Amino acid sequence: MSQHHSGVADAAVTAAVAGNLADIRSRMDRAAEAAGRRPGDVALVAVSKMQPPDRVAAAVAAGHRLFGENRVQEAAMRWPGFRERLPDLRLHLIGPLQTNKVRDAVALFDMIETVDRPKLARALAEEMARTGRRLDCLIEVNTGEEAQKHGIVPRELPGFYRVAAEDCGLAVRGLMCIPPLDEAPAPHFALLAELAADLGLPVLSMGMSADFEAAIHQGATLVRVGTAIFGERLPRS
Ligand SMILES: *Cc1c(COP(=O)(O)O)cnc(C)c1O
Repeated sequence: MSQHHSGVADAAVTAAVAGNLADIRSRMDRAAEAAGRRPGDVALVAVSKMQPPDRVAAAVAAGHRLFGENRVQEAAMRWPGFRERLPDLRLHLIGPLQTNKVRDAVALFDMIETVDRPKLARALAEEMARTGRRLDCLIEVNTGEEAQKHGIVPRELPGFYRVAAEDCGLAVRGLMCIPPLDEAPAPHFALLAELAADLGLPVLSMGMSADFEAAIHQGATLVRVGTAIFGERLPRS
C-alpha cells in the first residue's frame, strides 16, 4: 500500500479490493439463496469512510458503483471527481446529518439513510424543494434504544414517519439501523423488518462486515460493508 495517498491504485491493491468485493458478493448471494430470496434483491453499499484513496479507486476500477460515507465533508472531498466521469455512481449518506450540512448533503448524495428527527426532515424537504433534487430517504431507527445513539426509537417511529413522509413530503423508502455493539444483531434486524412491514416500506438497510449475512436472512435489501472490502480504516486525523 505504498502509494496509498496517491489515489492511483497499484496492481496489488486493485487485486485485493476486487477479490474482496467478489467474495462479499458471493457470500451475499449464498445468504439470499439460503433465505429463499433472490440475490439481486440485496445491494452492496461499499462503505469508503476513512479509507485511503487508492483502495476506493480500486473498487471503482472493479466496477463497483454504490458507496456509503458517514461524513458530508469527507464525501465532498472524495466523490465529485468520480461523479464527473461515472454517471451511474450512487452515494448514500450513512452517518448523522447536521442541519447546517443539509445543503451540501442534498447536492452530493443520492440517498440519505439517516433521517432521524423532525427538524432534519423539514430542512431536507426545504432544500429538496429549493433545488428540485428529490433524494430517496431512510429513517434511522435506534432499535436498541441506546441513549447515546442516533435514530428514532421504535415507539416513536409511526409518528415520525407521518411527519417525514406526509407533512414534509420526503420520499421515505425504508428504514436503517445499527444494532448495539454488545448484543446479538439478529433480533434487531428482525425488529427493523417488522417495523418496515408495518409501514409498508420496502427498503431495509442493515448489516455490516461482521453480520451482513444475518441481516440478509432477516430481509436486508441494503448491506453496508466497509472493512471486509477495503481493510482497516485509517485513523481520523
Ligand atoms: C462504518 C459503517 C459501516 C461499515 O462498517 P464495517 O464494520 O467496516 O463494515 C456500516 N454502517 C455504518 C452506519 C457505518 O458508520
